[in-house]
Parts: sequence; C-alpha cells; structure tokens
Amino acid sequence: MDQPEFKSFSCCICGIEINYDYHGRAPPYHPKIVFLEDGYFRRDPFSKAFRPLFLGSHCGICGREVCAATTCSFFFSKRCCRPCCQANITAFPPEVQRELKRTSGVDSEAA
Ligand SMILES: [Zn+2]
Ligand SMILES: [Zn+2]
Repeated sequence: MDQPEFKSFSCCICGIEINYDYHGRAPPYHPKIVFLEDGYFRRDPFSKAFRPLFLGSHCGICGREVCAATTCSFFFSKRCCRPCCQANITAFPPEVQRELKRTSGVDSEAA
C-alpha cells in the first residue's frame, strides 16, 4: 500500500492535530474554488466532488496556527485566533465586536 505522506497542522488553541495535504488558497482538488485566505486543506473523503475541507490557517496577528472552529478563530478580512480577537476587539467594527462577544461564549451556551 502506498501510504501518502501527510503533514500535520496543530491548533494553538484547542490543540487538535490534523493531517493536511495542501497549504495555500487554491486547493488542487477543485479547479474553481479559490479561498480568501491561505489555509490548510485536505480533500473531503466523503465528497465525490473532491471538495476541499478547510481545516485552519495562521492567525493574522500572532502568526500561530489555528483551526477553523468558531471557538478557536474568527475570520474578518483575515483570520485571527480568539485570544488575539479579544486583545484587539476594539479594532473591529461594532457589529463584528458583537458577533465576537456572542460567539466567544459558545462553550457555556452550547449545552
Ligand atoms: Zn482549534
Ligand atoms: Zn493570534
């Protein structure tokens, strides 16, 4: 068996480790999809269309790797990890600040 060599990416917030096979913004699995940000991708194994799964990216502020979970990162013109969002919350427009505050409490509200 030819085992493809996976590189792995790990989230600095939740610590999840995920294998990815492409980093960039135009995953090769789908010629028409170009993303707004450079990210880590792998091919969706459950999709016949080979849709790229967006796994995560780098925080635009601290540069650490963060996964795409809403509890770990937030995308507004660039992706930022949650701690950087909190630290720079006044830099966001008011409606985004509200969204950030609303979604930062998902852990306690999800239940
Ligand atoms: Zn994470
Ligand atoms: Zn950050």
